[in-house]
Amino acid sequence: MADIIQLLPDHVANQIAAGEVVQRPASVVKELLENAIDAQATTIKLLIKDAGKTLVQVIDDGVGMSVTDARLSFERHATSKIRSAEDLFQLHTKGFRGEALASIAAIAHVELKSKQEADDVGTEIVIEGSEVKSQEVVVTPKGTSIAVKNLFFNIPARRNFLKSNPVELRHVIDEFHRVALAHPNIAFVMYHNGSEVFNLPESNYRQRIVNIFGNKTNEKLVPVTEETEVLKVSGFVGKPEFAKKTRGEQFFFVNNRFIKSAYLNHAINSAFEGLLKDGTHASYFLNLEVDPQSIDINIHPTKTEIKFDDEQTLYAILRASVKHSLGQFSIAPVLDFERDSNLDTPYNYKDKEAQFPKVEVDATFNPFQEEKVSGKGTRTAFRKEPAASWESLYVGLESKGTHSHQDFSEMQFESDHQTESIFEDSKQTETSQSTYQVHNKYIVSNIKSGMLLIDQYRAHQRVLYEDLLKHITIKESVSQQLLFPVELFFSSDEISILQNVQEDLEHTGFVFSHFGKDSIEITGVPINVPASEVSVVLEQLIADIQNEIPDSHFSASDMLAKSMAKSLAIKTGQSLTAVEQEHLVNSLFGCKEPNVSPTNKPTFITLTVDELDKKFL
Ligand code: ADP
Ligand code: MG
Repeated sequence: MADIIQLLPDHVANQIAAGEVVQRPASVVKELLENAIDAQATTIKLLIKDAGKTLVQVIDDGVGMSVTDARLSFERHATSKIRSAEDLFQLHTKGFRGEALASIAAIAHVELKSKQEADDVGTEIVIEGSEVKSQEVVVTPKGTSIAVKNLFFNIPARRNFLKSNPVELRHVIDEFHRVALAHPNIAFVMYHNGSEVFNLPESNYRQRIVNIFGNKTNEKLVPVTEETEVLKVSGFVGKPEFAKKTRGEQFFFVNNRFIKSAYLNHAINSAFEGLLKDGTHASYFLNLEVDPQSIDINIHPTKTEIKFDDEQTLYAILRASVKHSLGQFSIAPVLDFERDSNLDTPYNYKDKEAQFPKVEVDATFNPFQEEKVSGKGTRTAFRKEPAASWESLYVGLESKGTHSHQDFSEMQFESDHQTESIFEDSKQTETSQSTYQVHNKYIVSNIKSGMLLIDQYRAHQRVLYEDLLKHITIKESVSQQLLFPVELFFSSDEISILQNVQEDLEHTGFVFSHFGKDSIEITGVPINVPASEVSVVLEQLIADIQNEIPDSHFSASDMLAKSMAKSLAIKTGQSLTAVEQEHLVNSLFGCKEPNVSPTNKPTFITLTVDELDKKFL
């Protein structure tokens, strides 16, 4: 029988290896940034186009490569970082496998330019799919520039597998954060599609964190330092009262390398025990220094996990040092269930001096001119709310003693007639109470065939959700102007998330007077959002988008409506007057899809008289 075994050609072997090293543009970013750091760069520039799908370029001012090294660097197992297997145990560089450049060159168009300090001219090499297209002498500054274009151009299946630009960009930024946080002594700049996203000068660790996550971060940081024989800990934890709903700001670095460790994360959580509100996560930026011989990080090129020799000791030291810091900086328990947050001065007003309310006079006002009821679409025009919508009952505005159906003029949906058929006698509801609240959670209501049990939180979410979506899609907003503008601080990341949904937010009624690099100023809010809730609503929105990045514009609008409905809906535990209960029930059945909440959970159940009768048998 003929021989059937063949040696795979190099470019095929490289493509296969590339599958391990390069999963997405962010993997390229990580490898190139790490190479630049290993080359002792002091300034590193990262240029991205289309979330890295079209271009990832890293320019450094490091040691550069000789002509021969430049050519060799694309060979598999070509590395300047180890010479023997033993070197692995004393590793002080990021790379060592010599696989990254070979893998990247196998699946992209790569252009490398590099020059060493002592040389007059540098080298330029162009490689496409492992094939060297040209090698030339060029004039270029000291250091290295590697441009990786059209990732996966020769593996369409992998290219199609990439996620939407926002998702891929998120991964790129995460990787950039990790590298930049581990190296505050190196300056980093990042551009996406030609505009600057981050500009991080060389600084200390605290400043680096602040430069990445925004000025407001500074006051939230509590330093942590501990030095023992086996472990040195340095860095910061976030004060518990600023804990976030996302796990975004949790970073461990072991010997300057970002790692994930559920076990060490647990150590931090236990240090924070009793200090965090439900559903929030502590932030931390912690550097651990251990003897390189006591850890094993060489598991996999892209893995960020690590094995420690003595995990339990590390756990105990880490937990104790975080606890110690929280205690030392007298971070007393902040949970105070009794306090009524409505009585607090809104955070942003605390240190502001009182201002005289301004009276605005319309100089062009002419009492004899007929009033124009437009203003549609313009951001600054405030349309007076038509008939008081029923939600206003929940924001502490005047509540009317009786209700009439005109109040729902805004809420009429196609299925409105359903209301008549499902409820026993709508006339009767105006005089006698037809609903009843159970445990401040469910509303019971009579229907022809028996009774309805409505979940008040879910029902209200449904009502708000449809209302918000309506405003977003018909692009007509109803705003209430704030007496004092509210200024809120965010990280540049968070700002860019808000910017993506800015238009939709405006359609729900937000009016932004300023959209800065780390703050926004709001002068108008949707009719059902109290000023004191604005920051909560936006933070929840950011957290929701971060947790589940929308793939398309439609899903972004949908997510926004869901998120706001969730934040604004009356919660379980809130007692409602008879009028409020009825409004809620009527509004629910004015919805297009009254039976499910925006997250597809049932909003009500029915119990027929037959079913009830059976229970009494
Ligand atoms: P590794 O980093 O594991 O050694 P790479 O494939 O990432 O493998 O890089 C191969 C070699 O190319 C490195 O060992 C280094 O000598 C050289 N190299 C790569 N990037 C740079 C750079 N930005 N500056 C200088 N040398 C570099
Ligand atoms: Mg490398």
